[in-house]
Amino acid sequence: MRPAPIEIALQPRYRSAPSGHWPIMVVPYPDEWLPGWLIRFGAANGVPARALGALLGLGSGNWAVNIEFGLSPAIAGAIETASALSTASWLTLVHPITDKALMLAPWVTVSTSPMGRRQATWLQLCPHCLEGDEAPYLRRSWRLATKLICQHHGRRLIDRCPACRQGFAVCDAASLAPFITCTACGQDLRLASAPRLGASTLRAALMLERAGHMADPGDRAKILSLPLELDPPASRPLTQLSVLMRARCLTFARPRIVALAKTPLPLPQANLHGLVKAYAAIASRPQARPTGERSRPAKT
Ligand SMILES: [Zn+2]
Ligand SMILES: [Zn+2]
Repeated sequence: MRPAPIEIALQPRYRSAPSGHWPIMVVPYPDEWLPGWLIRFGAANGVPARALGALLGLGSGNWAVNIEFGLSPAIAGAIETASALSTASWLTLVHPITDKALMLAPWVTVSTSPMGRRQATWLQLCPHCLEGDEAPYLRRSWRLATKLICQHHGRRLIDRCPACRQGFAVCDAASLAPFITCTACGQDLRLASAPRLGASTLRAALMLERAGHMADPGDRAKILSLPLELDPPASRPLTQLSVLMRARCLTFARPRIVALAKTPLPLPQANLHGLVKAYAAIASRPQARPTGERSRPAKT
């Protein structure tokens, strides 16, 4: 029996064409960074980050700087039209005004060459989070100078490719699989191993993070000047230092950080998981008993 012939005819116009919406909608994660979401949105629609800035009127090069410190109505309208998502649904992806003073200083140009000027600082990430993500995405908190660790993995964030030592030029990427490879050398960043930190350093990092969330303008100035406590002192503010240098502040400026945190020391989540796991392993270990002894119900 012959299959029924396929009828070819003109169809109604593609619904999204007159609306200006791009075909694939990408819903942001609640903790996502706005430029990172746009990069994922562009890639899903076949537009790499390198071309996205010009298409949405965001500029070229490191176009993230043109939207994360304030959006013009024209740009907000262009994003809303292309994404088919109302401004209200993605405006939460930018840091509130109180956090902006503690954001890492953005680089206006980020080299995509492994031989180009070595630069880091402006964007950090946890490679282990990217490895575990169904769709790798950049967390908003990774842009803060007071954020040094991934609490989930108990490791320090990285701000350079481990292979070529270049910073992350995510807005200039030509790949349609964003964030998982270094734009300079192609290294798979999910294979990187972020440095482990000791419990006391993790605790200090969490206190600094907490201090940043609670800080009033006076405290923010104190946080920015923490590098003065280094030996030798660094004259640049915390927002202009690499994650490695900021991690050194956790040791040298610990008393100041403790004072700024204003609250009792929290136990790092990663260590808490480790403790629970270790306890569970001990509790479930079979006990050696003399032959013939009957097991007793466990005490609760
Ligand atoms: Zn992580
Ligand atoms: Zn690299």
